[in-house]
Amino acid sequence: RMANKYMACRNDIHRYDAPFMAVYKSLIPAEEELEKQRQLMAQLENLVAKEWPHAKLYLYGSCANSFGFPKSDIDVCLAIEDDDINKSEMLLKLADILQSDNLQNVQALTRARVPIVKLMDPVTGISCDICINNVLAVVNTKLLRDYARIDARLRQLAFIVKHWAKSRRVNETYQGTLSSYAYVLMCIHYLQLRRPPILPCLQEMDPTYSVRVNNIRCVYFDNVERLSNFGSNNRETIAELVWGFFNYWAYAHDYSNTVVSVRTGSILGKREKDWTRRVGNDRHLICIEDPFETSHDLGRVVDKFSIRVLREEFERAAKIMHQDPNPSAKLFEPY
Ligand code: ATP
Ligand code: MG
Repeated sequence: RMANKYMACRNDIHRYDAPFMAVYKSLIPAEEELEKQRQLMAQLENLVAKEWPHAKLYLYGSCANSFGFPKSDIDVCLAIEDDDINKSEMLLKLADILQSDNLQNVQALTRARVPIVKLMDPVTGISCDICINNVLAVVNTKLLRDYARIDARLRQLAFIVKHWAKSRRVNETYQGTLSSYAYVLMCIHYLQLRRPPILPCLQEMDPTYSVRVNNIRCVYFDNVERLSNFGSNNRETIAELVWGFFNYWAYAHDYSNTVVSVRTGSILGKREKDWTRRVGNDRHLICIEDPFETSHDLGRVVDKFSIRVLREEFERAAKIMHQDPNPSAKLFEPY
């Protein structure tokens, strides 16, 4: 395994930039789809305002972080500053209101890990999950979106990686593989560590944005229009970055001892986080630190079986990027 660690990039890599860009472009949702999402959002805002005038609705997840595929469901968070709300009662009330407004398949899932109301809008065909006061997800959505505005290569890389993960079925947390959120963080981290760097570390800069959520201070530099030239000294292109990303996760990452951290823009030791042994169901076989909930390892869903699946898929991808004659097709061949 380690013999391959310093594998050089193939010298015809730039031939594959155009095909990978074509894949990327085919994955971007059309403007009319985004318009439909806004339309549904406006309708929901209206309904909610009638019952809870002080509540606010936020989009989060892939429909708002700029890493969404076409036909994605939308994730909505209803934020209400009221200490003694009963979430279940509120969700049931919300379900009632939505049902009377002709929204379909309305279901309140009050016992789920994250309680939600599900619905489908027959006008736009969009499905939607609404949760209550999951403000941290709204804030980490903004962080991802802000990173995407700094350098276009993040969105390109993350779309390719997400598409690969979905095609190869390693984007299924209930089966012990990683969430889309984790993959996007891995891409951000990879671009922070390029030399010269393609992305900065926003949480290490003088903060211009600050909120407090459940006693977690979320602060970072969000004036990202000022950073639009940040990565310009690095000329790496999409095919090179896809190659480098998979090469890193296949051969160079130290799974036994390290944690990738977007918060610090660096690689941390498992020891300093006390993530060296299994605690309950958290095994820490691949460690990705949440940028705000720093005690939270996004790799904790990975177990001793799925870590093998994951690493074999990273190696397969690295080999394809290294030598396959048609990597922009082969990479995404269904599992
Ligand atoms: P997809 O296109 O696969 O639906 P997604 O961006 O919606 O991608 P999910 O992994 O479904 O990604 O997560 C939705 C949102 O929920 C994320 O953007 C993030 O804000 C939040 N989230 C998901 N998983 C976690 C987690 N383990 N910890 C904290 N927040 C999370
Ligand atoms: Mg989602």
